[in-house]
Order: sequence, then C-alpha cells, then structure tokens
Amino acid sequence: MPTARELLAEAKSAIREVDPAEAETSLGQAIFLDVREPDEYEQGALPGAVHLPRGHLEFQVEGRLPDKTKPVVVYCAGGVRSAFAAKTMGDLGYTDVVSMVGGFNRWKDEGRPWASPRTLTPEQRNRYQRHLLLPEVGEEGQLRLLDSKVLLLGAGGLGSPAALYLAAAGVGTIGIIDMDVVDESNLQRQVLHNIERVGERKVDSAKKTLTALNPDVTVATYDVRLGADNVLDIIDGYDLIVDGTDNFPTRYLVNDAALLKRIPVVHGSIFRFEGQVTVFDPYNGPCYRCLIPEPPPAELAPSCAEAGVLGVLPGIIGSLQALEAIKMLLGLGDPLVGRLLAYDALEESFRTFKVQRDPACPACGPDAEIVIAEYDELCMPHRPHLAHAEAG
Ligand SMILES: [Zn+2]
Repeated sequence: MPTARELLAEAKSAIREVDPAEAETSLGQAIFLDVREPDEYEQGALPGAVHLPRGHLEFQVEGRLPDKTKPVVVYCAGGVRSAFAAKTMGDLGYTDVVSMVGGFNRWKDEGRPWASPRTLTPEQRNRYQRHLLLPEVGEEGQLRLLDSKVLLLGAGGLGSPAALYLAAAGVGTIGIIDMDVVDESNLQRQVLHNIERVGERKVDSAKKTLTALNPDVTVATYDVRLGADNVLDIIDGYDLIVDGTDNFPTRYLVNDAALLKRIPVVHGSIFRFEGQVTVFDPYNGPCYRCLIPEPPPAELAPSCAEAGVLGVLPGIIGSLQALEAIKMLLGLGDPLVGRLLAYDALEESFRTFKVQRDPACPACGPDAEIVIAEYDELCMPHRPHLAHAEAG
C-alpha cells in the first residue's frame, strides 16, 4: 500500500506545477479552478475562479469545463488537493492543466488580487438545489438568473405559465406589461390569476402570485398600453423579452424596438389547437419581420378572443418560452434562434422549421433605418423621412 506521501509524489510527477507569480500572468486567459470546500471558497477566492470542490471533480468537471484543450490553473489552499485534481483532469483528457504551488494561501500572502465571491444564501441553496445539481447551471448559473431581468408582454395565457416558471427558477427581476383587469373568462387558461382577483388589475394579481411563489423575485409592473411613445423606455435595461401578445401591431413594434436595443425576444403564439415558439436574437438570427414580412388581412387573423383556444395549450407554449428564456440567459444548449417550433395539440406533434434572415428585411437588413412610431394596419416600419413628414 502506498502512503499518502507516495501518492502525492506520484501525482506531482505526472503534472506540471506553477508558482503564483507565473499563474498570475495567465489571469484572464486561463480558467482558474478552485477545488476547495465551499466554506473555504466563501472566505475569498481568485477573481473569476470556477469553484468545484475536489470531491465533486470527477463527476462534474466535464459539465463545468467542456473544452478540454483550454488552459486551466487548479488551486486549493496549499497545493496538495490541486495536485491530485490536476492529475485526475489529465487522466480525464484535459491537455493543458497546471497546479498552483502554495495554493490560495501563498497567493494571498504575496498580495495578489482576490475577492470574497458572491454566493447563494442557505435558503437559496435549498430553494434552487435541483439547479445546483446540474453542473451546466450550478451556483454561477443560479446567480446569473438572479441577476437577470426579463420583461413579459402580457399577463395572459402565455405570460401566466412563463411568469410562474421564470419566477420559480429564480429570475431576479420580472417586468410585466398588461393593461387589462382579470375577467372570469380568463381563468380557463391564465393561471396567474384566480376567482378572488376578478376585477383586479392583471399586473397586480400577477405580482401577488409571483411574490408568494418566490420572494427572491422583484416584480416590476406596467399597467399601460405599449406604444411608440413608451416602448423604448420600458424595454431598456431588460436582458430578454418574452412576447405573449396577441396582435400584430404590438409584435412589429416590439420587434423594431428590440432590434434597436439589441434585446432578444422569445416569441410565442397560439391559435385554437396550435402554437408556435421561436427566438429572435437581434442580428444573430432572423427577426419577426424576416419571418412575417407583413401581417395577414384582419379577417384572416382573428384573435384568440374570437377564435377560441384550448385551455392547456398556452400552458405548453408559455412554458416553452420560459425554457428558451432560461437557455438564452444561461447560454445553454441550442435556443430556437433561426428555428420555429410548431406544436399541434390534436396530432400531439412538434415540428421544427428553419427560418432564415431576410437580406432585404426592412427592420434588420443592412439598409434598415428604424424609427419607432405607431403602426397602422399594415405595420410597416417607419422610415426616417416618413417620421419627419408626420412630425411636420
Ligand atoms: Zn429581419
């Protein structure tokens, strides 16, 4: 049986070690991997370090650091655990891993930069435990969600499930625009509201429900009609927009404003037994006008008030919107950028279609010059000269 000392010597002979001075030269280029226990990490760590305790290394490192060719500097408190960790990572196929001699203690003693990392509270650790168990989310991802701001257009059929799941997932700021009051006929699908809230403003009802679900969430309410006069101010500062509106002028208005502000829009729509979801990521994929250059004639585009909608359907589409929103916020997987997901409830089928950017798009094309203004029934973007003519 080898002794611990022999095991360490063996590990050290298989890895490369650097001292803190050399490690510091790769700050900003290499990934610094902190393999200490959570209580050590919380006392202070290298700026931007990825924290993964030694005990979880084998099972989580490939999820946290998927690129095995990227340079990694592993450190612990004194350089022993990091030597073993570097050896293990080499065995797992990581090609550029070094262990920092003397660890965090020597780094700190030598006066090099460190900080107390932001961490979740014990209550948050418990609430978001199922997220923390996913290496692709983890504490870093959860903190990012808590810092995120998502704006929901509408607290209705799509906005209800989207808001509930975003709040439950810990999206820290949720804005909701809606100028309606709760009506009994809403309750067939708008699960944010209930019978006691009939007659109440939807934004207030939504805020009560979301705050009761998750007190971590700040809910900003806008009991206004979204228009050319306020859209840029309202969407400013949000990371993402979840569009659950049911009319064409608002969709075009939001599209153009979101392009100007470069805010991605998770679009959802429902009609009778069918629904669609896609993500408009400004200039990285098509926009709403690339997909639907002009609105259909009013007689071919009845709203769900006129056409009816199966009650569960918005639950499915709105939940997909919430999922796409979280993927966009965390940079997870393949969001529906340039793809339209179409759901048919009667067939119980999902189909995905490719959507290309339109090089001649009047909103996101190279010659586009958007001026935000109220749209008529044609919803065409306003060109600067038109806007001037109107102003005069
Ligand atoms: Zn476009």
